[in-house]
Amino acid sequence: MPRHATNAGTSRALNRRLIVNEIRRAGSIARSELADLTGLSGAAVTFITSELIEEGLLREDPESAGQRRRPLSLNYSNHFAIGIKLTETELQGVLTDLSTTVIAGQRRAVDAHQPEQVATACAELALELIAQSGTPVSRVSGIGLALPGIVDARQGIVTESSRIGWHYVPVARLIAEKAGLRVWVDNDVNAFALGEHLFGLGRQAQSVAAMTIGRGVGAGLVVNGGIFRGHRGGAGEVGHIPIAIDGRLCECGRHGCLEAYVSEQSIVKQLHERSDDYRKCSADDVLALAQSGNFDALAVLDRAGGGLGRGLAALVNMFDPEVLVLGGEGVRFLPYFKKAMTGEFERLAFGEKRRIDVHEWNDDAWTRGAAGLVVQQFFNFDVPPGASPIRAAEGEAEPVGETLELSYRPL
Ligand SMILES: [Zn+2]
Repeated sequence: MPRHATNAGTSRALNRRLIVNEIRRAGSIARSELADLTGLSGAAVTFITSELIEEGLLREDPESAGQRRRPLSLNYSNHFAIGIKLTETELQGVLTDLSTTVIAGQRRAVDAHQPEQVATACAELALELIAQSGTPVSRVSGIGLALPGIVDARQGIVTESSRIGWHYVPVARLIAEKAGLRVWVDNDVNAFALGEHLFGLGRQAQSVAAMTIGRGVGAGLVVNGGIFRGHRGGAGEVGHIPIAIDGRLCECGRHGCLEAYVSEQSIVKQLHERSDDYRKCSADDVLALAQSGNFDALAVLDRAGGGLGRGLAALVNMFDPEVLVLGGEGVRFLPYFKKAMTGEFERLAFGEKRRIDVHEWNDDAWTRGAAGLVVQQFFNFDVPPGASPIRAAEGEAEPVGETLELSYRPL
């Protein structure tokens, strides 16, 4: 416990956080071991864990031989979360337990990105998932929304999402008012990184960097249990790390960006440039061509893999994370990225040899991360929702005044 923890409330919150996170990492653990790991007294551990059992967050496991008292684990089925991922074309939603394990899931198309309509669709999707799973609303802790773009997570405002066409949209408040639940909103890659830190590949780590590849390229950084956002929420825009001088033109208008080699559109484009014969090929076709041994497809993917290795090395050299995760729809190209990716990564990453943990990508990965935005409140006590329905009703959640006029640019 830090020495500057002066008031009882702060130190109580810190001690609870210490204990809950040790149990999250360990799975099942004895009270005596908790005292050793946290440095808290046996009496303090007993007091805090009793409180947490009473609140339904912890439970005692069945007795095992030789133990005086039953070990403790988290009671994952006492709290539930809704995770929603917004893309250009659809909403993907899940209802999960506290470990972000999916209990129910649904998708629905969104053909327009007007904030009001999207918020209504999110609220309806959440309520349908709750009904479908038979979960009492009182045990649903909130909604997490993940989307591409820069987000002011503390206020629940999408500052800028060129892909969705939003600029200063207080989307957490809009959804909270319609769903009657608390709402967290964050960048989708941040949410994925948080999910991996809480219950995924970075579960045992204090710092996690997660890079995702697919439609775009991005990274989320978790440091000491919290997302590192940067000054304006724009940290992790690794898609625009320059990996080549005077390189390919990127969607952002600059040259040589990582994304200009590795995003799915860029891969498709690079194949088109090799021959007119490929002009109708999609990303899936590039993969099929590579699988059949097509030279051009293999050459494009090898080049992209080399670019990806450079980007990952830049990320590691900048942040030195304990765990480095690679995820996103684009990991399906990995068999063809791998050789060049590993080669460039090992050549350029400083320090001792490091591993890249590749996420076995599936449809739930984004939405589980979104549910993690809700679940994080049980493990970190300093991330309030972007908007809660009660505050909204009292008019206190009105964020920053005139600059927050809804603004929408058609795609
Ligand atoms: Zn760029």
